[in-house]
Amino acid sequence: MSNREVARVVEAQPTSDGAGVKLNRSLGTQALPMLDPFLMLDEFYTDDPDDYVAGFPSHPHRGFETVTYMLAGAMEHKDSVGNQGNLRAGSVQWMTAGRGIIHSEMPRQEDGLMWGFQLWVNLPRASKMMPPRYQDIAPDAIPEVKVGQASVRVIAGEVAGTRGPVEGIVTAPLMLDVKLPAGERVRLEVARDHNAFVYVFDGDARLGERGTPVARGHLAVLGEGDASAPAGTAGPSSDVVTAVGGDKGARLLLLAGKPLGEPVARYGPFVMSTQAEIRQAVLDYQAGRLDRPA
Ligand code: MN
Repeated sequence: MSNREVARVVEAQPTSDGAGVKLNRSLGTQALPMLDPFLMLDEFYTDDPDDYVAGFPSHPHRGFETVTYMLAGAMEHKDSVGNQGNLRAGSVQWMTAGRGIIHSEMPRQEDGLMWGFQLWVNLPRASKMMPPRYQDIAPDAIPEVKVGQASVRVIAGEVAGTRGPVEGIVTAPLMLDVKLPAGERVRLEVARDHNAFVYVFDGDARLGERGTPVARGHLAVLGEGDASAPAGTAGPSSDVVTAVGGDKGARLLLLAGKPLGEPVARYGPFVMSTQAEIRQAVLDYQAGRLDRPA
């Protein structure tokens, strides 16, 4: 079994999006524009309502998937075709925008801590115009498994025979929320041909057999495994990611997905393969065609 070591560590950058929501962006920045198939990772963490109450009013998406994972607070989601949901703490929404949706994402609280993530995952060119699809997953529908002393919420993919509830995603993602006590070591498997990264969102951890330190608010890109090493137990070709909790333990997201290897053209809320497709998305949005069947 081959180890994935840390290839690079980047610090999340403070920015704002929507109607002035303050957040920290670790993926989708100049320093790290993307990690195929992942396009963006934002963490929002604040107990100051001024940082979040204005939310993300009505806006479009086309050509990729948005994943919202809430740790604290609540976010209401509404879209132009009548879907509505309230994302509570511990829940996840995996939204496949496909050919297009127009939605709003608004905090449903006026004070207190708002903590969560939004991840963007690309779709292959052949799936960019698929019908939109939502997977709204309640907190108790996400299994939590013990791996040694670590507690692992399995959102997508599989850990020790337990599969997460998010299914049918083209890039076959692994998405884990890992809670690691101080000094404890966990070994998790990722597919060898998948790109993978870790985002530490509480405490700090040491990653890989080399024990690269990664602090809260930092994203660690994992390098390729050694193709000559024997495969892991999770499948015909898996690698291992090792993490050890720091002095106060750690909480981290582990993401892995199948790289698409396709050209990416992105403009705001649209992620297509060519500039012509981006222009078409803008025209369709302006003409009110974006979220209607072709
Ligand atoms: Mn959105």
